Amino acid sequence: MLRRLKSHLDTAVDKVWSTEVKDESEKPIRYEYSRPEFLRLNAEKLKVSQDFMTRPIVTSNEPMVLPFNAGYAECINGGKSNMNEDQATAKQYFLDLDTHELTESSEDFPTTIQMTDVAAGRISNKLTLTYFGMFDGHAGPDAALWSSKLLHKHIVDRLKSKTEVLKAKILSMDPENHKEKNSHDSEKFGPLDVVSLDSLIVGALEESFIAMDDQIKREKTTYSIRGGCAVIVAIFIFGKLFVANAGDCRAVVYNKGRAVRLSRDMTPYSERNRILALGMAKPDLLHEEFTCYEYLKRITRSDIGKPILYRGPTMAGWGYKIADQDDLKVPLITCTGNKSRLMQTIGVARGFGDHDLRLYDSNIYMKPFLSAVPEVCVYDLKTADLDDNDVLVIGSDGLWDLLKVEEVRKSVSDVLHLYNVNNQKRYLSVAEELVTLARGTFSGNNWKKKNGEPGSFDDITVFVTPLKH
Ligand code: MG
Repeated sequence: MLRRLKSHLDTAVDKVWSTEVKDESEKPIRYEYSRPEFLRLNAEKLKVSQDFMTRPIVTSNEPMVLPFNAGYAECINGGKSNMNEDQATAKQYFLDLDTHELTESSEDFPTTIQMTDVAAGRISNKLTLTYFGMFDGHAGPDAALWSSKLLHKHIVDRLKSKTEVLKAKILSMDPENHKEKNSHDSEKFGPLDVVSLDSLIVGALEESFIAMDDQIKREKTTYSIRGGCAVIVAIFIFGKLFVANAGDCRAVVYNKGRAVRLSRDMTPYSERNRILALGMAKPDLLHEEFTCYEYLKRITRSDIGKPILYRGPTMAGWGYKIADQDDLKVPLITCTGNKSRLMQTIGVARGFGDHDLRLYDSNIYMKPFLSAVPEVCVYDLKTADLDDNDVLVIGSDGLWDLLKVEEVRKSVSDVLHLYNVNNQKRYLSVAEELVTLARGTFSGNNWKKKNGEPGSFDDITVFVTPLKH
């Protein structure tokens, strides 16, 4: 067992090592490798974007190519894979509440619509939904590609199926303060009267994430879908921002110089209670190779019979026990923070894909410990005191592993103050600056940040979206 793990650690070049790649190579590919649609890269530009020696920063360089004139920038990793495994999607839809007709905005987002209406979430009888998605792939590009092409469809389909309920909820809102009236004021749907509008949106997001992961599992029987991906989605609807997160991409609101995190990084360590409790409840998943206990130090044969510090599932503190043979097994979760690993292999505990991910040369699968269910955070834009410098920054871990939340706040502020509020490139410039800072410049034989510390070796992806539209 230990030899097998050592072999894995010696050969791993990413957070994930799996045996699935060779199994997948004989199946057809449904989505060829590409970059986000809104970048409109031709074949030549696509090739240039893949140069991991120069790592060019690719941006959404035309005004209004993204909803709300948001900015986007990305760059490929420093050579850990020959493709950029991050993906991104931006969409805007209008749902007619009377006819139930769903319309997707054209590529050039409409400038004729009053943006105050968009911010409030309605254009006459049309409900506006604005979607930003980010997918950080591992062990292959396919799960992220599939999700970038399909997840938004799951979400709008679910919302469309709830049109009647959504319409009634909107009509029952108090026009003065945009708040839902008490249930006894609008008894139209029986039990549904006690369900808030927010919880209907949250439920639609949760259902959509689960459905997307199920679709990947299903379609894998026909198509090659390598790897998995972390997922984060931000949708603007009803004057609120909903962030659904499953993985270690991150969304942070910067409002008047204050940072508000709308997601938490879901690493094996941060999800230890859920993972270890599952291992304890279903010991078959551990195959007698792993233990659900954590130890302060690695236990060796010389520790057997002696007191050791340990921590079991659901324990916050540390206890003492006499070490026995079982304590020589490998802990299910090793290390802490963003260095933590499940079965010494994967560094994210939620996301899509990874259905075939297993420990090298074994039938020990990791998927039972991974979850596709997102945590959803709601930020009310109507009650926030917003100005043109307040933004939502969504980034993959290629950004956040290198830049602290406070460093990003300073860069956002510095760049925005260089531009007039009407300049359509101001949010794009922030995104470009953030990717530049995380990547650094090539110096000697390494990418280095301005302060001389190593730059990100990972794929880096950033959306910067204004909150006042
Ligand atoms: Mg990454």
